[in-house]
Amino acid sequence: MCKSACVFKLQDIQEITMTDHSGSCLCGSVSFKVTGEFNGFYLCHCKHCQKDTGSAYAANLFSQSAELVWQSGADTVTCFTLPGTRHNKSFCKLCGSALPSTQIPGLLVVPAGCLDTEISMVPTAHIFLSSKAVWDENSEDVPRLEGLPE
Ligand SMILES: [Zn+2]
Ligand SMILES: [Zn+2]
Repeated sequence: MCKSACVFKLQDIQEITMTDHSGSCLCGSVSFKVTGEFNGFYLCHCKHCQKDTGSAYAANLFSQSAELVWQSGADTVTCFTLPGTRHNKSFCKLCGSALPSTQIPGLLVVPAGCLDTEISMVPTAHIFLSSKAVWDENSEDVPRLEGLPE
């Protein structure tokens, strides 16, 4: 009895550590699952990603083989492609949160921040540093607070 229960537990752990990831948007309308490996994790500082995210860079995971399944709210996902470029984003129509994109055939792009599961992968590289924001300089020297300023 006890033995089989332990075996079940081990299998559960293996399944989780395998490569199942899940994520959702801020309002919770959209949720998804990703099965497979990520091949790259890039922090893109290009001007398009700055506009797109409203921040210093976009943090995206890339996979050529992983599978994406929308678990809820698939019809609430919309996407935008910047004309004349490959720059695109998927997002929730209701809350605007970034969501996985399959706009480029054979390539799944998952914004790291929309995942609810932890990823063991560390970023592969910062890219397009040539166009990084002027305020995105020496950020390691900026005071670090665990919460709001006093
Ligand atoms: Zn949403
Ligand atoms: Zn970019």
